[in-house]
Amino acid sequence: MGRARQQADVRSHRLDEAEIARNFGDLHPPLHRSEALIAADRCYFCFDAPCTTACPTDIDIPGFIQKIRSDNLQGSAKTILQENIMGGMCARVCPTEVLCEEACVRNTHEEQPVAIGLLQRYATDPVFASGTQLFSRAPSSGKKVAIVGGGPAGLSCAHRLAVLGHDAVVFNRDAKPGGLNEYGIAAYKTIDDFAQKEVAWILSIGGIELRNEQALGPDFTLEQLRDEYDAVFLGLGLAATNALGLDHEDLPGVGDAIEYIAGIRQAEDLAELPVGRRVVVVGGGMTAIDIAVQSKRLGAETVDIVYRRGPEQMGASQYEQDLAQTNGVTIHHWAAPVELLGDKHVTTVRFARTELDGNGRLKSCGDEFELQADTVFKAIGQALDNHPLDGQGLDLEAGRIVVSASGKTSLDNVWAGGDCVLGGDDLTVTAVQHGKLAAIDIDRHLREA
Ligand SMILES: Cc1cc2nc3c(=O)[nH]c(=O)nc-3n(C[C@H](O)[C@H](O)[C@H](O)COP(=O)(O)OP(=O)(O)OC[C@H]3O[C@@H](n4cnc5c(N)ncnc54)[C@H](O)[C@@H]3O)c2cc1C
Ligand code: SF4
Repeated sequence: MGRARQQADVRSHRLDEAEIARNFGDLHPPLHRSEALIAADRCYFCFDAPCTTACPTDIDIPGFIQKIRSDNLQGSAKTILQENIMGGMCARVCPTEVLCEEACVRNTHEEQPVAIGLLQRYATDPVFASGTQLFSRAPSSGKKVAIVGGGPAGLSCAHRLAVLGHDAVVFNRDAKPGGLNEYGIAAYKTIDDFAQKEVAWILSIGGIELRNEQALGPDFTLEQLRDEYDAVFLGLGLAATNALGLDHEDLPGVGDAIEYIAGIRQAEDLAELPVGRRVVVVGGGMTAIDIAVQSKRLGAETVDIVYRRGPEQMGASQYEQDLAQTNGVTIHHWAAPVELLGDKHVTTVRFARTELDGNGRLKSCGDEFELQADTVFKAIGQALDNHPLDGQGLDLEAGRIVVSASGKTSLDNVWAGGDCVLGGDDLTVTAVQHGKLAAIDIDRHLREA
């Protein structure tokens, strides 16, 4: 295949504006009042509610649903947001099908849980639309905490510290705050610039100074922060991406899914984004599903996800896998890439079929197949960029920061949370919980000091 033909296969305007607008509209449109009341009426208001136990931020779910029933939406929103300050975003992006809604007892009787995510959105949307402030700050403690990272973990920590009377300075590498809420989550899960509206509301509590484009490493060191502030919280996320480890990985057409997704989220006009005709995605997590579905919705003709293990081992939930398939994405299991082919641009990926050996380890079973591709996205996970932490004496394990249950690291006065710590599950809701718990522990520590 000639070079001109290959380049023509990656182009913008595959779909017209109306199709793009339809494809990138709200994935789960909000409930109207009558729908919300019907959904709320399905709740049994269980004692020791299993849905609350399953929520990583411990939201009193029957409590907020009860308030929806009595039309007390502000009270309902407060019940949610006092446990999860990003309850608005989580209502849109939480994999509820494996959290609260999976635990809902309605599943047993009717195989249909209470629509907890949609109800949470119904209760919280008016707060962000009106900018209503629900929280106030305790009298000033005179203490100042440095937060590194303006993603869900960092912002949750900053907000709770502000409520408790401390000042927080958030140093954020990116040009905008929000972390992956702004640069990573699929565009159709968070439309209308919701991530920035939510951050603006969080900051409106006061006492939080946001410094964008300020990065630990190039601009300041951890040692400086520990000297200048009463405590430090690290919410760095996972800034590095994993490589396939194959030859020709730098061939044009082979790229990181995360980078392309950030481009989608920041695009002023989605139709202008070049997209391949035949897209191959390597990986099995949420990022793989998101890049595959968004490529298809931008007009790619064929999109294939190839994952080295089976459907049960995929990081993406069954719901996400179904979403990919109903969007026309083909998922191939038990195969791993062995060669990227092409001269001046990728044209083909060769895969080896895989299976487990007697010890449960993955091995190639000798069979191979090829997929034609003008675009190959790597979606095989991210890693902590630990360069800024080198030589600081911080305990790391399996490439992540080791913390206690309350987020305390091995260094005095330093806490951490979110994706960058060991033992998390790489979800927005978990990052928010880490930030909240660390703030509560920092507060205790500052008051005892
Ligand atoms: C493509 C994709 C889709 C996802 N979809 C979902 C989903 O649908 N639902 C869900 O629950 N979760 C989803 N997740 C996971 C979720 O986005 C993360 O778990 C969550 O954002 C983690 O929050 P965090 O604050 O730890 O890190 P991040 O959101 O990564 O934020 C880290 C912040 O730190 C800043 N930073 C990084 N390095 C430095 C430095 N050296 N100095 C200063 N600041 C720095 C960055 O600028 C960024 O603002 C998705 C993740 C990806 C990659
Ligand atoms: S488990 Fe289901 S029915 Fe029970 S309180 Fe939670 S949402 Fe309501």
